Amino acid sequence: ENGAASKPEGEANTNNKTEEDDKDDKAAQSYLNKLIRSSLVNNTNQVEVLQKDPNSPLYSVKSFEELRLKPQLLKGVYGMGFNRPSKIQETALPMMLAEPPQNLIAQSQSGTGKTAAFVLAMLSHVDPNKKWPQCLCVSPTYELALQTGKVIEQMGKDYPEVQLVYAIRGNKLPRGMKLQEQIVIGTPGTMLDWCAKFKFLDPKKICVFVLDEADVMIATQGHQDQSIRIQRMLPKDCQMLLFSATFEETVWNFAQRIVPEPNIIKLKREEETLDTIKQYYVLCNSKEEKFEALCNIYGAITIAQAMIFCHTRKTAGWLAGELSREGHQVALLSGEMQVEQRAAVIDRFRDGKEKVLVTTNVCARGIDVEQVSVVINFDLPVDKDGNPDNETYLHRIGRTGRFGKRGLAINMVDSKMSMNILNRIQEHFNKKIERLNTDDLDEIE
Ligand code: ADP
Repeated sequence: ENGAASKPEGEANTNNKTEEDDKDDKAAQSYLNKLIRSSLVNNTNQVEVLQKDPNSPLYSVKSFEELRLKPQLLKGVYGMGFNRPSKIQETALPMMLAEPPQNLIAQSQSGTGKTAAFVLAMLSHVDPNKKWPQCLCVSPTYELALQTGKVIEQMGKDYPEVQLVYAIRGNKLPRGMKLQEQIVIGTPGTMLDWCAKFKFLDPKKICVFVLDEADVMIATQGHQDQSIRIQRMLPKDCQMLLFSATFEETVWNFAQRIVPEPNIIKLKREEETLDTIKQYYVLCNSKEEKFEALCNIYGAITIAQAMIFCHTRKTAGWLAGELSREGHQVALLSGEMQVEQRAAVIDRFRDGKEKVLVTTNVCARGIDVEQVSVVINFDLPVDKDGNPDNETYLHRIGRTGRFGKRGLAINMVDSKMSMNILNRIQEHFNKKIERLNTDDLDEIE
């Protein structure tokens, strides 16, 4: 019943998912990744640059000093613990800070320093003596807007003349009010209302427009339209900046409507490999046997932190219960939890308060928890048709580049069907997955 190929009961089914579900998923993933991440992701790929004017020299900086930032901002950057620009910042920052301002479309995976880059650009461009909005930043959700706002507040800590206001639901201003804050950050609907309906600010006075998380934004048609309507109200010479973690055709089409004559920067996601991973499988007959095998493994080797993936909420809940009865400190990540609850669980796990994180496949999709050295597939990852989900397998246990630490992956097999899945995964990656005898565990470690 809990075999790898069974349907994920109670989880949003990819077949009949609505646009809203999909957007919520993406926004939640993005938000969780932001909460999880405390440092830059490593990426050894080259940045690809496409300049609006291919003949103009391309500047890239290796230090923040070279950018001739205001001293308060340089202090803010160092105060955040940044020593040098990230890969994407090396080229993006000089473009964004150039005179006259240049438009930019930038794409790189989450955690590569996009937010920090555009926050620095906004803070650099505002004139603190002018008491009206000069920068607009739109984010797809309330949570993401607040998160970016925090970065602005942190980086601008030593620049208190610059003020920030949130155009988000619930933030009701009196009619006829004129904003004095230089930076407005918010979601598209409220932002549009503030510009067009309530006229709390004059869009003609905006000199920097940032659209963050474009790939999440376009998942909602309404957000797309609202963003475009805001953009249409801005002056011609307003700097337009757009950021996205992924770049499908649809994102690209939207980006071109928002950002005229753009410079384009792309940083490819670093390939994940299984080269530094020891992969094993354990043969069992039932979920109870899988649990027993798991206990044996725990008894035999020292596991700092492990993530365990299950196919259904029911299995995940059951397994978490059994593990805690055995005395393990277990965190459970499950689909019915609110984003905030999930974030709290991940936070505790990251802090080492719990050593085991049990989660469902659906729930963990798109979330990066890097420091985990042991990954256990209690159920193998399969797609909705029951075929091996190689991409998820790789993302779960793979490591990137030469920074990757060695890792251990253990796959639980409990039926002919799951053995078949395992074989196909093995063939796909052309890397041997060794049989592990859990009654004799000398061979691992
Ligand atoms: P993105 O917007 O691409 O997801 P962020 O700007 O949020 O990336 O940066 C990811 C993490 O790296 C954050 O914790 C941020 O504080 C940190 N970070 C950003 N730029 C730098 C830098 N130049 N040096 C060190 N850490 C940085």
